[in-house]
Amino acid sequence: MRLVLLGPPGSGKGTHGAWLSEQYGVPTISTGDILRAEVAQGSQLGRKAKQYMDEGKLVPDDVILEMIEQRFRADDCARGFLLDGFPRTRAQAEGLDVMLQRFGWKLDGVLKLDVDEEEIVRRLTSRRVCSRCGKIFNLVTDPPPANGRCPNCNGEVIQRSDDTEETVRNRLRVYEEQTRPLVDFYRDRGLLVTVNGQGSIEEVRERIAQALRSAGIG
Ligand code: AMP
Repeated sequence: MRLVLLGPPGSGKGTHGAWLSEQYGVPTISTGDILRAEVAQGSQLGRKAKQYMDEGKLVPDDVILEMIEQRFRADDCARGFLLDGFPRTRAQAEGLDVMLQRFGWKLDGVLKLDVDEEEIVRRLTSRRVCSRCGKIFNLVTDPPPANGRCPNCNGEVIQRSDDTEETVRNRLRVYEEQTRPLVDFYRDRGLLVTVNGQGSIEEVRERIAQALRSAGIG
């Protein structure tokens, strides 16, 4: 199972990716999570990436492609993976094609989640995440425990520094300009599966399962 999760920030890629990853027994590769871990460690890569991330801009393509290539070499990718937040530009999508060929792999599909802009801003500004394991909460629909600790790993539950309204709007603009063109890129290759991402987590999950079944994926 090799699947790309495509959709604007806040469309549910992380939430549904976690479930799909369990279902199919393959890891989720989230470039955002990898970058946040590098920032937390204060590595050279992290220091470089932080400036872009804080402004809601994209980290340069060569940095991201190098990160993915390294991740693909790990043993747990041999059976497949879900890509969350990558590719995000045409150059990344083309770079991914080249890499897949080199590894002798091919994509099974690209799952696109559709959610309208105001809903995204609402979701992201009320989103909270575990700073240790990345578990996602929402102040309105799925609040974290009152002690502010993750029930999975006891990590601290925080608001991501780029989940403020101004940065969210900027990230959405970047999505429209740089990432939306990938919808046609993958539609032309016959890989695109589109799902309405609005509604409860369970409703969307059911739609995803159904859409993947109909597309013969998984
Ligand atoms: P995410 O967690 O996917 O919303 O990513 C958070 C931030 O990390 C983005 O706003 C970008 O600054 C950076 N980032 C994550 N993935 C990529 C990518 N594939 N290309 C460029 N920048 C990325």
